[in-house]
Parts: sequence; C-alpha cells; structure tokens
Amino acid sequence: MRVLRASRVLQGFAQFGWRSYSISAHAPATSQKAHSGLGFSFELTDQQREFQATARKFSREEIIPAAAQYDKTGEYPVPLIKRAWELGLMNSHIPESCGGLGLGIFDACLVTEEIAYGCTGVQTAVEANSLGQMPVIIAGNEQQQKKYLGRMTEEPIMCAYCVTEPGAGSDVAGLQTRAEKKGNEYIINGQKMWITNGGKANWYFLLARTDLNPKAPTGKAFTGFIVEADTPGIQIGRKEMNMGQRCSDTRGIIFEDVRVPAENVLITEGAGFKIAMGAFDKTRPPVAAGAVGLAQRALDEATKYALERKTFGKVIAEHQVVSFMLAEMAIKVELARMSYQRAAWEVDSGRRNTYYASIAKAFAGDIANQVAADAVQIFGGNGFNSEYPVEKLMRDAKIYQIYEGTAQIQRLVIAREHLARFKN
Ligand SMILES: Cc1cc2nc3c(=O)[nH]c(=O)nc-3n(C[C@H](O)[C@H](O)[C@H](O)COP(=O)(O)OP(=O)(O)OC[C@H]3O[C@@H](n4cnc5c(N)ncnc54)[C@H](O)[C@@H]3O)c2cc1C
Repeated sequence: MRVLRASRVLQGFAQFGWRSYSISAHAPATSQKAHSGLGFSFELTDQQREFQATARKFSREEIIPAAAQYDKTGEYPVPLIKRAWELGLMNSHIPESCGGLGLGIFDACLVTEEIAYGCTGVQTAVEANSLGQMPVIIAGNEQQQKKYLGRMTEEPIMCAYCVTEPGAGSDVAGLQTRAEKKGNEYIINGQKMWITNGGKANWYFLLARTDLNPKAPTGKAFTGFIVEADTPGIQIGRKEMNMGQRCSDTRGIIFEDVRVPAENVLITEGAGFKIAMGAFDKTRPPVAAGAVGLAQRALDEATKYALERKTFGKVIAEHQVVSFMLAEMAIKVELARMSYQRAAWEVDSGRRNTYYASIAKAFAGDIANQVAADAVQIFGGNGFNSEYPVEKLMRDAKIYQIYEGTAQIQRLVIAREHLARFKN
C-alpha cells in the first residue's frame, strides 16, 4: 500500500497539468544532446524539473499569500504542511521499502529552495522532519525504519531532532542528558532546547550520554534513541518567540524518567555521536538550499521594486549604484546555488561530502543575510516596514548562520577538512 502511494505521487504531477508550468532561467529544459560526452551537466532530469515546478507552483500560489499572516501570528502552518505532504514534497528521501519516494538529497534541495522562496518558516518546519528522520535513515535497522519512517508516509506527521541543550549547542559533546540501562529499557533524564517541531513531533531522535565517565571518548560516550513523543515523563515547553521564521515551532523539552525500550537504540550503545553528526552531511545541503531560496526571493523583490520606484526622474534600477547592488546580489545567489548543488551531488554519488556540505551551509547562510539586508536597503524606508516583504526576509535569514552548526562551526569543519586533505 505504501509503495503504491509513492508511485501515485509521481503520477500525480502529470495529472495536475503542471508539466507546462514555467521554470526559470536557472533550470533550462533538458536537451539530451547537450550533455552527450561532456561528463558534466547542469541540466535536471524530467522528474527533477517536475518536482521543482510542483514545489514552485505550491510556493507561489499557496505559501506566499499566507506567509505574512503566519509570520504575524506565529501559528504553525498546518494546512500548508498537509498540502506539501499530499503533493509528495515532504519526506522525499524515505526509502521505497518504507513507502517513501527514495529520492536523493539533490532532489530534496530543489524542492527546499522553492518552498523557502515562499516562506522559510514553513521550510524549516518541513526540513526539521528530514533532520529528525536522517539518523533513522542512515542508522536505523529495518524494523525501526518501517515503524518510524513508514508511519510518516501514511499521514502528515512530524518528527524532531533533539540534540541541543541549554548548556550545549556547538559543543555537542558537552550535553548532559543521560540514559541509564535498566533491564530491557533505558531511563532518560535531561533537558533539550531549541527543538524545531518540538511541540508537534510524533517521535524524536534523541542523543543522550550513556557512558557517565567524563573521560569516555566522545565517539563512544553517546547513544542515539528513537523516542515516542507521548512517552510519560516528557514535558514540552512553551513555543519560543523567535526573531524570524516565526511560524516554525521551537521549544525546550524536559525528559524526566522517560523509559525507552532498548530496541529503540540506533545501531548500538555508544554509536550516537557519529550518527547525530553524520546526519548533517545530508541535511546541510538542504539547509543551504533554503538560504538560497530566501536570497533568490530577496533579489526578485528588490529587482521588481527597483524597476518601479522612481527618484531623480528615473527608476532606481537605472542608478548605477543600485544596479550594481543587484548584480552583486545575483552573483551571490548563483554561487550559493552551485555550492549546495555540489554538496548534494557529492553525497548522492556516494562520496563523503562533509567539506562541501559545510562550505554550502556557511556560504549560503552568509549570503542570505547579505542579500536580504541589501534588499531592505533597496526598498529604502519601505524596506523597514512590515507591509513590504523584505523585512521578514532579513529577520528570517539570521537563523541560517546559527542552526545546524553556526557560521563559525562550519569554518572549523572546513578548516579541519581542508588541512587534512592538504597533509595527505
Ligand atoms: C530557531 C532554532 C531552531 C533550532 N532547531 C534545532 C533542532 O531542531 N534540534 C537541535 O538539536 N538544535 C536546534 N537548534 C539549536 C542550534 O543548532 C544551536 O543554537 C546552535 O548549534 C548553536 O548553539 P548555541 O545556541 O548553544 O550557541 P553556542 O554554542 O553557545 O555558541 C555561541 C557563539 O559562540 C560561537 N562558538 C562556539 N564555539 C565556538 C568555537 N569552538 N569556535 C568559534 N566560535 C565558537 C558560536 O558560533 C556562536 O557564535 C535550533 C536553534 C534555533 C535558534
């Protein structure tokens, strides 16, 4: 039944009549001749172009009209999430054996960029599902995958990635949540913080310390668990009021004597740190794609405005300084897009992509902030006002330099990877 659903989603694109929906210059139509013998191509497959077009149509027609109101109220965008799920735009990487589409990270990135163009609050809610699922995809056994990934293909439910704590964000090895084995169960005690989808999740991926010896090596001290969100002892905190992406649900969660069956351990006791960090190779490219979607939106809004607003007798796009600002913004968007595509392509090709994933995440996070700030500048006074779309983009952009590893932590990773390559 679940496998049928996956194929129905793919067939559905053709039925919606969206094949002919226009796609932008950055996604040209496929020409088989063009890539014969070259060994390198920027062209998308027909299926990828259909996914992109479906996501673009959904984003422009359904997300954009609702985004300002969700930003104002902070309400969780349930109807949009349900719709994304129906269209097959969520959970695309769940294996076919669990009823998913089994698509690659590159495909997920194309969709993510389009959803982010509409609203990155919605995109973060959707993306947090991928982050929660990824440890189960890379490390879950067949039974765990069927049970926890399979249920996400049957109804639009959410999950979450519970790693950060009030006292440990960048320094993951400093986390204090502990899990003690008693018979066939683990008893979990601790506190998590900043958990996206924290109040909406059906289950959590949770990282806890199982070796209480402070001298235990990081690679052996932590264990990854799948935890049902309705387990007694879980207390979900208030929704945090954040600077941006305000419709995304971010919360603290307390775990007090929470009993988790040993069968919910991923791989084995002590394997958790590598699983939790390994997930980022597959989730940082989509986060970068989200930042690119936001930056593309800022560039488009600024360009539209610059072609309408007149000063000194001409549209401001005709002032060279403004047109050069637009050119700089365009350079950044194009290069950031290439960086996430490279990172996604590497991991889909079965290669370790840590270096490229961190470059993409760092670069796209930075340029999203620069491009959004430039868009506000081009709007002048109107840019500072919530009646216009760009101040939201500037607030929403900031988180891309913070979550899934801060801008500084990405540079630590890139430097480490770069120096290791140089020495080898
Ligand atoms: C909206 C939101 C959603 C989030 N969603 C999730 C989620 O779903 N799941 C989850 O587990 N976590 C989530 N997080 C947590 C996020 O990943 C952390 O906030 C982030 O990793 C930074 O950790 P921190 O806040 O503890 O900052 P800190 O680690 O305290 O860092 C503070 C500052 O010091 C810098 N810094 C720290 N160490 C170094 C170093 N060694 N070298 C140089 N600079 C350094 C940092 O770059 C930063 O600028 C979310 C956070 C937010 C705000």
